[in-house]
Parts: sequence; C-alpha cells; structure tokens
Amino acid sequence: MNSICQNFICPCGSNRKFAACCEPLISGKHWAFDAEQLMRSRFTAFKTQHYGYLCDTHYVDSNKTKPIIDDFDRNILWVGLLIIEHKADIDFVSKSQVEFVAFYHSVEDSTILQLHERSNFLKVNDRWLYVDGTHLPGIKIQRNTPCFCLSGKKYKKCHGQ
Ligand SMILES: [Zn+2]
Ligand SMILES: [Zn+2]
Repeated sequence: MNSICQNFICPCGSNRKFAACCEPLISGKHWAFDAEQLMRSRFTAFKTQHYGYLCDTHYVDSNKTKPIIDDFDRNILWVGLLIIEHKADIDFVSKSQVEFVAFYHSVEDSTILQLHERSNFLKVNDRWLYVDGTHLPGIKIQRNTPCFCLSGKKYKKCHGQ
C-alpha cells in the first residue's frame, strides 16, 4: 500500500482516514480489537485485493480447508459496506456476529448487487477471525441516506437513481 492513499477516507465506511482505520490491520501492524473492526478490514481487503489478509483472518478447523489467494474472484468490484448490527453478546470474550451488506458489481456489468450476510467471528489466541456466514435477502435502502459508495451524495442522487 503506497503512502498516497493513506489520507483517503477508508473504504469500509468508518469515516476515518485509511491510515487510521483498516490500513494498519491489513498491513499487519496490529490486530482488530473486535469482530466489527475485523469485518470492516476484511471488506477493505476485498476491495483493495489484499487476499493474503483474507486468508490470514479466516478461521479454519479440521473439517474445512483454508482459503487460498486463488479462491478470490478478481472480477468482483466492491463498492461499499453497510454494517447493520454487531452482536457481541453471544459471548463477550470470544464469539461475535456481524450483520452487514456489501455492495458490489462485476467487471462486465455495473448493476449493483448485495451480499447481505450474518457472519460469525471467533477470537483465537487473542486474534479475531472470520468463521462463516449465512446469506440473507437484499435490503431496501432508504433514499435519503448517504450513498454506500461514500460519494457524499444521498443514495437517491447517486447509486439509487
Ligand atoms: Zn476502515
Ligand atoms: Zn453512490
């Protein structure tokens, strides 16, 4: 990651600068302090194609195989992220759930699609990891909310047109 992009607003939608948000996580300077932060940084890693980070933060048990870099589809362009709920009450110490919608389109077609998922996270040896998720139906976006693409415009004047 080059230094120029450090001042950009982070793609995860936190409204913080990239350098003070997902960049230190993706570059390995420190680990996510909770499941939501890990979720956000994984979205940013998808968007910026840092697939090694996605492999590193994926929990695998003996029944599953760890993803490899080639598993990720480079023809998907990730546009924005909306965190719906962070449930840390399952077990405050080591288990959390994050429900989110990630907006994306393919390289060939700019139609926006939604990945609405409730993901499970586990803290193993002090590090939050993504376990798996359940896919949910797409959501209806309020027309007056700021657009998920971080353009600064309302949804109805941006991707909702
Ligand atoms: Zn971020
Ligand atoms: Zn937009």
